[in-house]
Amino acid sequence: LARENSAYDGHERLWMGKDTVRGLTAIVAIHDTTLGPALGGTRIWKYSSFDEALTDVLRLSRGMTLKNSVCGIPFGGGKAVIIADSKTEKNAQLLTAYADMLQALTGQYITAEDVGLTLSDADFLRLRTSNVAGTTIGGSENPSPFTALGVFLGLKAAWKFKTGRGDLKDVRVAVQGLGAVGLSLCRHLHQASAKLVVADMDQAKCEQAHSEFSAEIGNSANILLSDVDILAPCALGGVFSALNIDVLNAQIIAGAANNQLLTHTGANRLRDRGILYAPDYVLNAGGVINVAAEFDLDGYDRTKVLTMIDGIPATLTRIFERAEREGAATNDIAEIIARERIEAEKSR
Ligand code: NAD
Repeated sequence: LARENSAYDGHERLWMGKDTVRGLTAIVAIHDTTLGPALGGTRIWKYSSFDEALTDVLRLSRGMTLKNSVCGIPFGGGKAVIIADSKTEKNAQLLTAYADMLQALTGQYITAEDVGLTLSDADFLRLRTSNVAGTTIGGSENPSPFTALGVFLGLKAAWKFKTGRGDLKDVRVAVQGLGAVGLSLCRHLHQASAKLVVADMDQAKCEQAHSEFSAEIGNSANILLSDVDILAPCALGGVFSALNIDVLNAQIIAGAANNQLLTHTGANRLRDRGILYAPDYVLNAGGVINVAAEFDLDGYDRTKVLTMIDGIPATLTRIFERAEREGAATNDIAEIIARERIEAEKSR
């Protein structure tokens, strides 16, 4: 089944974990371990079919290879999904079964938080397996604030590249998704005097953003069509497609969500429309940089983490400049840079 899936291309391994008694169906995809063991979060999501979950994990694990390469950490790319509703089906039994699966993979895959898997879930897993990072148990804790910081710095760099302006005063930003990353991003943007339009399926989160950051509450069905300067998708992937790219009003896309483009070629259409696309995995690497620092031989060093996250704007600007010079889409250039590091490692 996996080999028939077009997203399988280039993957090294795929593991499936099924425990009918404890309610676990999980897929761990290991895309490329040239740079080190596979590192990437676990998503818990109520997929409508096994094939949908498979496609998602394959696309996400490939993205992790590119992300880990571009941000310069010594890890390869992998990702896991658990097919379950995190609100109603996630429980101790399911998580224990998943910990057993991680343990059986003997360190070839290290996981952390993602949509549906929280910091306390990561702690729960950590008590049963060492193959989990981003915990409070001797770990680097919640990666989301680091992701949000990197997204904020990258978003500012994109705005500067596009307009020459170094500040975000009164710049209108639409944030889709007010979860761990989205809300933290809103905080940075509000402190920088940007004007926010927000949407989330959870009305309470919208109210929170309204009261804390004076955010205007948008319509979750069409937040991405808002009349704003910048779109920051921070919910799920696949949000830009032939259905909406031609009618977007923003000049820049810079958000945290993984795999924002439904198809790779969407970036060419964005470029034709003059919309600057900040490749998601370049922008949202702050969290994985923090998680990877746990494995540093000299020990976890927050200052070093913040210095690496400070490098995200420069990496992005290099991508924007090269894309402009070569008349290419920004995501194509990001991928070339990611592959250059992997190829260099292979030929060492
Ligand atoms: P989260 O689960 O904490 O938050 C996601 C939020 O999006 C939730 O509040 C949910 O209600 C909302 N949402 C879902 N569908 C929506 C829709 N159609 N419209 C509006 N809101 C919607 O997740 P998170 O950790 O904040 O991650 C957000 C995105 O960033 C994900 O795509 C994730 O893969 C990516 N990402 C996260 C990190 C991290 O450190 N957490 C790192 C890299 C990438």
